[in-house]
Amino acid sequence: MSNTKELDKKYILPTYARADVEFVSGSGARLVDVNDKKYIDFASGIGVVSVGHANKRVNDAITKQISQLTHTSNLYYITSQAEAAKKIVESSGYDMMCFFGNSGAEANEGAIKIARKFGEKDGEVKRYKVITLQNSFHGRTITTLKSTGQELMHNYFGPYPDGFVYANDIAQVESLLDNHTVAVMIELVQGEGGVEPLDKERIQALAKMLKEKNILLIVDEVQTGVYRTGEFLASNVYGIEPDIITLAKGLAGGVPIGVVMTSLKEVFSPGDHGSTFGGNFLSSRAACEVIDILDEYTKSGGLKEITEYFNHKLQEFCNSHKEVFTSKVGIGLMCGLRVRDGDTLAKIISNARDEGVIVLRAGRNTLRFLPPLTITKEEIDEGFISLNNAVTSL
Ligand SMILES: *Cc1c(COP(=O)(O)O)cnc(C)c1O
Repeated sequence: MSNTKELDKKYILPTYARADVEFVSGSGARLVDVNDKKYIDFASGIGVVSVGHANKRVNDAITKQISQLTHTSNLYYITSQAEAAKKIVESSGYDMMCFFGNSGAEANEGAIKIARKFGEKDGEVKRYKVITLQNSFHGRTITTLKSTGQELMHNYFGPYPDGFVYANDIAQVESLLDNHTVAVMIELVQGEGGVEPLDKERIQALAKMLKEKNILLIVDEVQTGVYRTGEFLASNVYGIEPDIITLAKGLAGGVPIGVVMTSLKEVFSPGDHGSTFGGNFLSSRAACEVIDILDEYTKSGGLKEITEYFNHKLQEFCNSHKEVFTSKVGIGLMCGLRVRDGDTLAKIISNARDEGVIVLRAGRNTLRFLPPLTITKEEIDEGFISLNNAVTSL
C-alpha cells in the first residue's frame, strides 16, 4: 500500500468510497498519477476546475494575492471580495447583491436563511416552508440534507428542521403551496440526481406563477453556474429571474468558495449571517480571475465552439455504442449518457479510469461529463479514444 493510502485508511473517516488512484499533478484537462500514468479529466474534479488544472492565470493571480494578504476577516473591507461580487452580479445580468461563504451547502444555507427571514417579515402569517424537488441535491449539512429531496439520504441524522416539502416534479409544485410556503428551491439541470434538465417552458411558467403569489424562487446553481450550461447562469439560459441564486463549484478554479446572491437586498441586517473564511482574499481573488478568463473565452466564441465539438463527439460515441447507452442528455458542458443497464455504470467508470479517462456517475443510470470548460479539441479526442476502449472492453 502507498504511504498516502495507508495514512488515509488510518486517519481519514471513511465517508468516501475512493478509487485506487493518487493524482500528483495536472495541466488543463490532463492529470498524472503517482505511477506517472496519464489521464484526460472529463470531470473537472466534480465540476470544479472549470478553467483546467494548474491554470496559469489563476495561479499567478492567487500567488500575487497571497504574497500580500490571505485573510483579515469580514470585520474589514476586502478588495477582492467586492470586485468578485461586482463581476458576479454584472455577469448574471440581475440586480442583486452577494454573500460569500465556502461551499455549495453553505451557499444554500444562506439562501434558506434569506427566504426564511423574508417569510418572517413579509405578510400576516410567518411563512417558512420551502418546496424542493424529488431527486434534487442541495448539500450535506443538516438543513441542506433535509432540503435534498432524496429520502434515502435522510437516514440516521434526524430530527431535522421542519418546513421542507418535496414535489415529484414541477407540475406538482402549485398543489403543494399553502399560506406557509415562502420559497421553491430547484436546480435547473439536476446534477447529482442524474443530469436531468428541467423543461424550459414549465420553469418559465413556474417562475411567473411564484412571482404572482409572492413566493420566492431559489435556483441552486452550485453545479450549473459559471458558464457550465453555456451562459454565466443556467437561469440566463432558461430566461428567468430568480429571487435567490447560489453558486460554488466552478467559481474559483478549485479554491473553496460559495456565494448566495439575491435581489432581496434589504432582508439581512448586520449580525443575521456571517462566515469566518467566506470571501477572503484568496478565494475571491481566484473567483475574479476565473470569471475574467471565462468571460473573455465566452465572448471570443471559444466556449461555444468547444461545447459543440464535445457534444458532437459525445453523440457519436453514444451512437456507436447503442448496446450500452440509450441517449445523450444535458445542456452545454453539463452532459450525460443514459446507460441501458445501471449495473454496468460502475464498470464503465473503472474501465475508463484504467484506460486513462476520468468520468463520473450521476443518479442511478447516468454517466456524467463535466469537462473543464477550457478543454482543447486534442484533449477531447484523446479522452474519447480512451472511453471507446473502456466501453469496447466491457
Ligand atoms: C455539489 C452541490 C451542492 C453541495 O456543494 P458542496 O460544496 O459540496 O457543499 C449543492 N447543490 C448542488 C446542485 C450541487 O451540485
